[in-house]
Amino acid sequence: MSASSLRSSPGVSVLNFWRNLNQRWCFYSSYHSYITLSFSDANITGITEVSPDCKQYVVELDEKTFEGQAGQHTVLRTPAGVKPYSVLVCDGPRAALMIRAYGTDGVADYMNDREVGDTIQIQSKLTGSLTLNPPTRPAVFIGTGTGITPLIGLLHRYVTQDGPHAVFMFGEKNRDQLLYKEMLEQYELIHPVELSLAVSREDWHGQTGYIQEQLPEVISNIGTDADFYVCGVPKAVVAAKDKLDELDVSSADIHTEGWEDAQVADW
Ligand SMILES: Cc1cc2nc3c(=O)[nH]c(=O)nc-3n(C[C@H](O)[C@H](O)[C@H](O)COP(=O)(O)OP(=O)(O)OC[C@H]3O[C@@H](n4cnc5c(N)ncnc54)[C@H](O)[C@@H]3O)c2cc1C
Repeated sequence: MSASSLRSSPGVSVLNFWRNLNQRWCFYSSYHSYITLSFSDANITGITEVSPDCKQYVVELDEKTFEGQAGQHTVLRTPAGVKPYSVLVCDGPRAALMIRAYGTDGVADYMNDREVGDTIQIQSKLTGSLTLNPPTRPAVFIGTGTGITPLIGLLHRYVTQDGPHAVFMFGEKNRDQLLYKEMLEQYELIHPVELSLAVSREDWHGQTGYIQEQLPEVISNIGTDADFYVCGVPKAVVAAKDKLDELDVSSADIHTEGWEDAQVADW
């Protein structure tokens, strides 16, 4: 279903259809309006496989520059639809995205079929409320799935602005989906970053279970006077927020994209 057909058919059946799709976009489509979006041509200058179903795309705008902050997202307009994508990093006319393909012929699969040199349509103005607070105290980044994308942008900004101590927590189903593991391990070596990875459906030498289960230990080490950035699968975001609440973290210190509770409550 395209964005325009969603816009022109606001009936209950359409809303129910979208509610039954278990992804980050589902609630977003009713939360934000397409109407104010404007798109620019960008050239794909690099494609790298990050996991069996995820690729990183470096894109370069023809004329404009990207405007926005780490943690925010852009929007892609394709023949398969219009969807938001967080930005890993951006610098002037260039940005890197990381997209998981589902084999559904949607926007992600349209991108999966692209090659270096292809032109895509992208919004140059980034939006979204997941941005970095001044990095004057410890920060904990808690991600699942493709929710790692904005968190990497935030982590990068945190360390380049001399943030004192970061804990980067990332959970996935299997080891081969632990995205950017090598890069994060390098961050751990050269910056004040502690890495906590967990897989929920496979035994391995590291932690098993859901990533939020590691929070009591993290908080016993760094305390609650920190910023907590959470992004990813809506149920996991809500579970992490509940765990933080149990551990007496103030809600003012928990930063999310902001739409996940409503999506989980809608189910
Ligand atoms: C603010 C924001 C930022 C986002 N950032 C990113 C990002 O950085 N990277 C990224 O990859 N996505 C990101 N998303 C999700 C993205 O917008 C799309 O929802 C996603 O790429 C699927 O779009 P599609 O058109 O390919 O899906 P469709 O073809 O419409 O597929 C419908 C849905 O089916 C579900 N589905 C189908 N097969 C599977 C499967 N095997 N496993 C799980 N679900 C399945 C998915 O939930 C998918 O959304 C973001 C979403 C939001 C709201």
